[in-house]
Amino acid sequence: MRFLPATAISRLRSSSSNRLLCFLRSSSLLPAAASTALSSHPTLQSSSDGDGNHQPQLLRWHRAILPLTLAASAGVFYFDLLHSPAYCDPLLHHQYGLTESTDLSKEVPNVFIEELRTILQDDMTLDYDERYFHGKPQNSFHKAVNVPDVVVYPRSQDDVQKIVIACNKYKVPVVPYGGATSIEGHTLAPNGGVCIDTSMMKNVKTLHIEDMDVVVEPGIGWMELNEYLKPYGLFFPLDPGPGATIGGMCATRCSGSLAVRYGTMKDNVISLQVVLGNGDIVKTASRARKSAAGYDLTRLIIGSEGTLGVITQVTLRLQKLPQHSVVAMCNFSTIKDAADVAIATMLSGIQVSRVELLDEVMIQAINFANGKELPEVPTMMFEFIGTEAYAREQTLLVQKIVSEHGGTDFVFVEDPDAKKELWKGMFG
Ligand SMILES: Cc1cc2nc3c(=O)[nH]c(=O)nc-3n(C[C@H](O)[C@H](O)[C@H](O)COP(=O)(O)OP(=O)(O)OC[C@H]3O[C@@H](n4cnc5c(N)ncnc54)[C@H](O)[C@@H]3O)c2cc1C
Repeated sequence: MRFLPATAISRLRSSSSNRLLCFLRSSSLLPAAASTALSSHPTLQSSSDGDGNHQPQLLRWHRAILPLTLAASAGVFYFDLLHSPAYCDPLLHHQYGLTESTDLSKEVPNVFIEELRTILQDDMTLDYDERYFHGKPQNSFHKAVNVPDVVVYPRSQDDVQKIVIACNKYKVPVVPYGGATSIEGHTLAPNGGVCIDTSMMKNVKTLHIEDMDVVVEPGIGWMELNEYLKPYGLFFPLDPGPGATIGGMCATRCSGSLAVRYGTMKDNVISLQVVLGNGDIVKTASRARKSAAGYDLTRLIIGSEGTLGVITQVTLRLQKLPQHSVVAMCNFSTIKDAADVAIATMLSGIQVSRVELLDEVMIQAINFANGKELPEVPTMMFEFIGTEAYAREQTLLVQKIVSEHGGTDFVFVEDPDAKKELWKGMFG
């Protein structure tokens, strides 16, 4: 572990920058380095379907992913992806969980599995159902072509570091895994390898109420975090898919319904700790908000989809729970009218907390799924927050803008249960 004392902020940041850049340089992210590194790798046999089923041509591990093995998201592994068929190509006969391809004697050396066992004892599994579960898309239309060879459940950054070092040593792919709510096949394991499930790393490490920030492990969900923060009058304002974890949210640079007011993940993460592909640990920034020494490594990692490292600790900016809120809904005959209202509202300086546009197809789906009878036309929902008087004043101003743009059926609610019902009725 290479943590530096909090006092050595600028030194830490520049050394972190160097370490990360060295890592990038030495990995095949840079094409020149890639060919050298690839040629020096031992050949590990890639999968093939012994039943003669037609499969996409898979690249071998050693050619297909970062030599230092910290590749992660399915679909972004291949640097020569352009030469390969897309995994979601409907013309290819994709299959879930090819048992043939997960024969450990072929895919990963037993000595590697033994090494993992020494690190993790029972916190790992070779069980096919578990591997299948982790390798199949939970919320994505992309199809799986393989499953991970092993699923591990680290409990600490130390565990993650040891796992990644072992993977690097045996050139085994790594797929970090959070809530699996991502919708673009991020957590698939086309080359098998090790799925690092972060569900045992859910601790809130430190809450700094006065600084309005919190330090957490990556496996905690945003919903769990908000439950924890509620008694303190604070909350974390990003709300992607229910079940999403903070680590996955960082890795996807996610947004949410409050993005119009609070921004996306890149605006709400202060600092990260990341285990790189060679096992080095990088701390990307200090907690101090007014600090800008060196490269902005935090934002390099945010949105890197598991390809640059495994996030092991996150410092998040928090917000005060609003005193009062109003939820409003209205209908339009065209999407353009609705979009014009959004633009006029933003330009008027009104600080909307949430704004969501649902087209008629989405309303049809909501009616179908939630037993509603909403008019099947473009629909907008807003939330306004602040003091009671302020939130209501903003609502009435937007009501006026809506009527100026041909919007109809403007309704708003303030009662907590009615708000929940209205918002939940729409988004489940
Ligand atoms: C109903 C629904 C609504 C949604 N709404 C939104 C929305 O409003 N806005 C939005 O942006 N997205 C939305 N999403 C998508 C999804 O919720 C987000 O992308 C979310 O950030 C994924 O988090 P996760 O924990 O599920 O990550 P996962 O799906 O587990 O992983 C996503 C990626 O992150 C990597 N990863 C996971 N953990 C780590 C880690 N510790 N270190 C490094 N890499 C890691 C994985 O390898 C993978 O590449 C929605 C999804 C659903 C199902």
